[in-house]
Amino acid sequence: MSDEPPSLPFDQLPRQIQELLRGSNVKTPFPPPQAEASSGGSESANEETNKEHEATLRLIREFNLKPREIRDYLDRFVIQQSAAKKVLSVAICDHYNHVRQCLENPGMRERDYAKQNILLLGPTGVGKTYLMRCIAKLTGVPFVKADATKFSETGYVGGDVEDLVRDLVKAADGDVELAQYGIVYIDEIDKIASAPGNTVGRDVSGRGVQINLLKLMEETEVNLQSQNDIAGQIQAMMDFQRRARPRKRTINTRHILFIVSGAFDKLSDQVKRRVQSSQIGFAAAGRERAGDDSDFLNLAQSRDFIDYGMEPEFVGRLPVRVACQALTANDLEKILLTSEGSILQQYRADFSGYGIDFEITMDAVHEIAVLAHAEHTGARGLMTVLERVLRDFKFELPSTAVKSFKIDRPTVAAPSDTLQVLLKQNAAQQHAVLKSDVAAFAARFQKDYGFELVFDEPAIERLIELSLAADKTIRALCEEKFRDFHHGLKLIARDGEPRRFAISREVIDAPDKILSRWVIDRFREGGDQPAPTQ
Ligand code: ADP
Repeated sequence: MSDEPPSLPFDQLPRQIQELLRGSNVKTPFPPPQAEASSGGSESANEETNKEHEATLRLIREFNLKPREIRDYLDRFVIQQSAAKKVLSVAICDHYNHVRQCLENPGMRERDYAKQNILLLGPTGVGKTYLMRCIAKLTGVPFVKADATKFSETGYVGGDVEDLVRDLVKAADGDVELAQYGIVYIDEIDKIASAPGNTVGRDVSGRGVQINLLKLMEETEVNLQSQNDIAGQIQAMMDFQRRARPRKRTINTRHILFIVSGAFDKLSDQVKRRVQSSQIGFAAAGRERAGDDSDFLNLAQSRDFIDYGMEPEFVGRLPVRVACQALTANDLEKILLTSEGSILQQYRADFSGYGIDFEITMDAVHEIAVLAHAEHTGARGLMTVLERVLRDFKFELPSTAVKSFKIDRPTVAAPSDTLQVLLKQNAAQQHAVLKSDVAAFAARFQKDYGFELVFDEPAIERLIELSLAADKTIRALCEEKFRDFHHGLKLIARDGEPRRFAISREVIDAPDKILSRWVIDRFREGGDQPAPTQ
């Protein structure tokens, strides 16, 4: 029924909407399916998108990755988390193999199949999202992430968690077919646990969100237009007016994979108590190694989650559970050195955008890892530390002649000292850089306005002196000093000549005064050359 177009006659629509429909080129939130797409002008763009779409769908239809292959791929990016990698690799293979079988043989759909929705446990910044992003990239399916807390206020009143599925369609560029095989990742799920025994107040909202989510996780049809989606409503009416074939306006969540995650801070203590009080517990599970909470989280049972405040039905929809472990300083060091997606690579790329390269010593890497570990934010701490160390380098170096530098342990401890030394060593070349900045300004001015400014040596030296004193770039300084010159020079060169003007130190010190003197002289002398040219 939800595919039916709205049946309101055109003249009964609100006036604004009628107007919109008449002249309208209202943007649809969901691009038309292929059959309708051909009416547009940008056919090659459509073709390109369709090709991409086909390629991705083929990837899903012909899914043939093995769990080990997925694990090996994840190893290139994610350090540690071997238990999570194993569990996820198997769950992903099962899920997409099932999807493939359903596509090959629609009869399969009727058979019972428990979806492998996943519960990822573990502290922040240890790679939970990163694992899922890598998997989504490898499988080519769309991916969205949201925090469960986002739904706690409004989710209860309804509909809101369905936005996740709509977002998936957006992430798939409006491609509903592709979106129905996507991955939805919901973080901070532990924050919507309701306190045990509490049935009133805010906790009810958490429970409401859990109930809504579990409908999605199972199988449901989600309307692609939320009640607040005016553009979508208008589009539907336009289709109705044009008597166009109704678009697919719902998406089925049967093949969408849901992954929820949370730190479940106090859960490990809870499990620890239970396990340690029972003789068949921790040691029997072969885990003598003390300390890591993930060991206890991996032993958590449905009962523990229910005691924590999760709804039994909700926990039941999350059959695959695995804990990610906290990262040690050693792990953080490994991330810097070996992860293909390491934040250090990002810094390298940022600097190389300015033609700058850096070398980092092993003891600096170690020191960064130790400092990052002390932040207690997992691998996110690496970003915090690197940002602090390299902030001023990023600001200063692009405007200097420095093309390479070294990050050693003293640099990590006192980055500004190293930077000062570097800038001092660079002082001689810096003069040449600033000189070339003056030439670059003159070239830009000529390109933009057709006048050649010929700076003499004293003028250049004066600009450099002012630039250093005011801590201002040559570019900004020149733009300020020569702000009105193109207007003035146009007046002077009203017959097309001259096009070349000599800029002396005097001009630098009083640009406006000299410019107006040139203009006045030009008018007074009726065509004499106003400024000395070369
Ligand atoms: P969370 O566990 O809170 O979901 P994320 O996966 O978002 O944390 O981690 C934040 C960033 O830290 C990632 O984008 C990634 O760059 C880095 N990171 C986190 N854990 C790891 C890891 N185990 N290996 C490599 N990089 C990691």
